[in-house]
Amino acid sequence: MPVETRTTCPYCGVGCGVIASVHEDGAVSVKGDPEHPANFGRLCSKGSALAETIDLDGRVLFPEIGGRQTGWDETLDLVARKFSEALAEHGPDAVAFYVSGQLLTEDYYVANKLMKGFFGSANIDTNSRLCMSSSVAGHRRAFGSDTVPGTYEDLELADLVVLTGSNLAWCHPVLYQRLAAAKAARPEMKVVVIDPRRTMTCDIADLHLAIRPDGDVALFMGLLAHLAESAALDRAFVEAHTAGFAEAVSAASALSFSELSERTGLTASQLEQFFHLFETTEKVVTFYSQGVNQSSSGTDKVNAIINCHLATGRTGRPGMGPFSLTGQPNAMGGREVGGLANMLAAHMAIENPEDRDRVQRFWASPTIAPKPGLKAVDMFRAVADGRIKALWIMATNPVVSMPDAAAVEAALKACPFVVVSDIMRDTDTTRHAHVLLPSLGWGEKDGTVTNSERRITRQRRFLASPGEAKPDWWQMAEVARRMGFAGFDYQSPAEIFAEHAALSAFENHGSRDFDIGAYASVGPEAYDELPPFQWPSPVADGDKPKRFFADGGFFHPDRKARFIAVTAPATDRTDALYPLTLNTGRIRDHWHTMTRTGKSIRLSSHIAEPFAEIHPQDAAKLRIRNTGLVELESPLGKAVVRALVTDRHAPGSVFVPMHWNDRFSAKARIGALVPPLTDPVSGQPASKNVAVTARTY
Ligand code: SF4
Repeated sequence: MPVETRTTCPYCGVGCGVIASVHEDGAVSVKGDPEHPANFGRLCSKGSALAETIDLDGRVLFPEIGGRQTGWDETLDLVARKFSEALAEHGPDAVAFYVSGQLLTEDYYVANKLMKGFFGSANIDTNSRLCMSSSVAGHRRAFGSDTVPGTYEDLELADLVVLTGSNLAWCHPVLYQRLAAAKAARPEMKVVVIDPRRTMTCDIADLHLAIRPDGDVALFMGLLAHLAESAALDRAFVEAHTAGFAEAVSAASALSFSELSERTGLTASQLEQFFHLFETTEKVVTFYSQGVNQSSSGTDKVNAIINCHLATGRTGRPGMGPFSLTGQPNAMGGREVGGLANMLAAHMAIENPEDRDRVQRFWASPTIAPKPGLKAVDMFRAVADGRIKALWIMATNPVVSMPDAAAVEAALKACPFVVVSDIMRDTDTTRHAHVLLPSLGWGEKDGTVTNSERRITRQRRFLASPGEAKPDWWQMAEVARRMGFAGFDYQSPAEIFAEHAALSAFENHGSRDFDIGAYASVGPEAYDELPPFQWPSPVADGDKPKRFFADGGFFHPDRKARFIAVTAPATDRTDALYPLTLNTGRIRDHWHTMTRTGKSIRLSSHIAEPFAEIHPQDAAKLRIRNTGLVELESPLGKAVVRALVTDRHAPGSVFVPMHWNDRFSAKARIGALVPPLTDPVSGQPASKNVAVTARTY
């Protein structure tokens, strides 16, 4: 009989439950967990292929220094010495961690504690900065906390589902399956897709609004101005539970209808249709993802969406609310432990001296980061100009995924000391490691992750550790001990989880959203058995869906939400030299930079090559042939991909997937074209509106 283990898919933020079976011959198979409330047994193509990606081909199995196989003691001694020297000679701002939404919460917790409480710097940022930091910033501005109000069943309970900046069918496929099933059961349910491209998600759309790139702020400003004059305005909710309504409506009303049409690229009839649907449908959920977040106006987009839900009081009630879909499997867990440069821990604020004091006392730490640290783009700038002397990268591949990727690569080459913890030996980033540490992969490591609906689920180990690979939390705890820091004597992830839970409840008198203190005394056995649960949730409360803010109770000091007065930015970045707008995104069957999904022939056969979708009019003008090679160029770099001539988007646009890198297809690293332009509030890079030119290669 195969031995079955309940665990979680390590790819996207849907957080599907997986049952992994190890058979008598050692073979592994996977199936969806029918009891997991995120997926009820469903898996998408990536999740179904998990067993095809767990072989040891290409794995790093031993610690290495300068490409030489070493032992853990020698390697960890070196890491501890180099970080100690950098701190002693240059101060806390000379060190940095760049971590990942692939880390488990326990890894993230230890990384954040070590950097902020013991190194005394907040220079810990994560690839989640590239994914959902605009949502974090928007939530904090509106709600006073980083809280996703809703729960997945809202997409089944809604009468109108608005998907903006989200190709749900490919990027969160199991949620798309749930939505498609709900719409099939209730055909009167309406789906609106707002996206410059006609994606697969549009297959179930009643209305597709092919919006101009970055036209979303204007669209939701127009919607707010419309709602303010309509019967849908919930005056009682606005007056009792919010502040800033008049200012936000005044800013929104500054845009005339013709300006609105011009900024969004939508006709008056399309705008009226959308506004009417939103106005007349009580149960509305607005799901949004990277098309909203990855923008120089990402935070304003998030708040423009939330404004409309606050104005109608449709926040946190069944089938209603704004809903951020996280890309990564554990971006939410990272947010909970404060694993971003501008957060602290347990949703406390680094800018708040009382919060800093509270966390420092809880950790009994010698210091606490006094201010926010460097966000991802600024962090790699600091590496490039020599301010960062020692950098530790964990579970991510910034040489492919960061904007201005060539500059990131040059920065790593110039950095005096780079440690990389990874499972793969040869990535674009590991090539620049002075020290390479072998980490555990999916199926080998133990911990928890949090999905987009705030549901914490165990990721469980069912495979032996290969070679000398070790958990990321263990690597950091060993370095901390060698540097003389107390408080890192963890023997298991259960101990770390219990400490994390205790911190969430420490001196918390209902003033914080994130409180899982009920799990502070969880022992190893209870931790092992931990069923999926959604916070806030006492242990005894079972698995009933939890929502926030149906009756106010926001987390600003006056318990009121904030409307944010936003302005619509200019969105066209093209000029005579770079006349096309590049939009980057994901495809269905690959994940991030393909270090794992690239191993599966099945997944790679869905779309075998990187491609650029080019409109027929542009192709004709530029003499680009369908399926021929095309060179794309921005002021920062070039990429060569296969041309796919299609009218899926408007003339003047190009779409290219972000996954490929030189290991799979030479010159296809699209991050090399993306400028390091960021949202001024969140620091999230604008990866979806880049001026480029194209030519036959
Ligand atoms: Fe994994 Fe996401 Fe697919 Fe679920 S939807 S199986 S979490 S990749």
